[in-house]
Amino acid sequence: MLEVNGRRYALPKQPTVVVCVDGCEPDYLAQAVAGGQMPWMKRTLAQGTALVAECVVPSFTNPNNLSIVTGVPPSVHGICGNYLLDVETGTEVMMNDPKWLRAPTLLAALANAGKSCAVVTAKDKLRLLLGKGMNGICFSSEKADQVTQAANGIADVLGLVQRPVPDVYSAELSEFVFAAGVALMRTRRPDVMYLSTTDYIQHKHAPGTPGANAFYAMMDRYLAALDEMGCVIALTADHGMNAKTKMDGNPDVIYLQDRLDGWLGAGRSRVILPITDPYVVHHGALGSFATVYLGEEDLSRAMACIASLPGIERVLSREEAARAYELPADRIGDLVVVSERFTVIGTAASRHDLSALEVPLRSHGGVSEQRVPLILNRRIASAQAEAESGRRWRNFDAFDLALNRAQ
Ligand code: ZN
Ligand code: ZN
Repeated sequence: MLEVNGRRYALPKQPTVVVCVDGCEPDYLAQAVAGGQMPWMKRTLAQGTALVAECVVPSFTNPNNLSIVTGVPPSVHGICGNYLLDVETGTEVMMNDPKWLRAPTLLAALANAGKSCAVVTAKDKLRLLLGKGMNGICFSSEKADQVTQAANGIADVLGLVQRPVPDVYSAELSEFVFAAGVALMRTRRPDVMYLSTTDYIQHKHAPGTPGANAFYAMMDRYLAALDEMGCVIALTADHGMNAKTKMDGNPDVIYLQDRLDGWLGAGRSRVILPITDPYVVHHGALGSFATVYLGEEDLSRAMACIASLPGIERVLSREEAARAYELPADRIGDLVVVSERFTVIGTAASRHDLSALEVPLRSHGGVSEQRVPLILNRRIASAQAEAESGRRWRNFDAFDLALNRAQ
């Protein structure tokens, strides 16, 4: 038994693999299973455990990946987006440095307990956070050609996986994660493995389309291979994904900084979009979640004005948002704004370059992308029964189910 962040976990008796499929709206699975693209998944849904869980809000990649590996919400682990505003300097700071992580990961604890651990991520931005304090293998597809034994716990990943380094904007970046996972399981059989993909495909392709189905068919083959090797597999997602468009195909954007400047005057507020990251080509830094810094005197007026905008789902004060979404109050703005399913929030129109969007915008960040799959390749009757009697499963229950109930 291990105790990490107030939760207890049994040690793995067989290899345990937790997979976070980035942007895996449950409908992607439904369409691909119905279309015959995922025979392994079809069998697993029938014979294993099939739950729908909720991710944390903001429904972004980093907060959710960190929740999955720590077993707790952002109020405990501290990672609530890609960016936060350093109020002292007025500058936006990236939150992908491990120094921002306030809680130990289960992976680090398992490694400390003598279990062999491996983490493979698609993008390198997550690698250091997920690998914090963990003695084991940890690398990204993006920088698979730059691994060293000292930094990544493994040398020559390309030789192991027998594939070239993929482009950062490609389906292959995620396929490399699965291929590496299968190769690691075959050659080293780690006790615990965490695989985390990227949502490049999901941002571009809707559920059931050929591009999406090909991705899920690929994934299905690797999951079947891991299953065949005797692994307990728990599959979940960091968040869902929805179309964010008007009827004419253009993004349905509320430019919140422009609006606030109009209501309050320029320079009286600062809108932060925590989805912003160095790789914004596929979503133009537009998501359904924003946080706003402003003065006490403008607070109630701004709240009322924002709430009146069509397409806004919720406007909460810092304290309300911290409570409702389990967020660290010291790392969000004075207001938290969530937009509806079809709508995204931008800062100023002049600050978003939408010319790189080749297809109608699909994105995430809001409450509307909170539902995610939580699937195990072992039957756990108790988990299913709890879901039926109203238990709200979370994506960060994945390790709990895999280690405490599946084996
Ligand atoms: Zn994501
Ligand atoms: Zn995304």
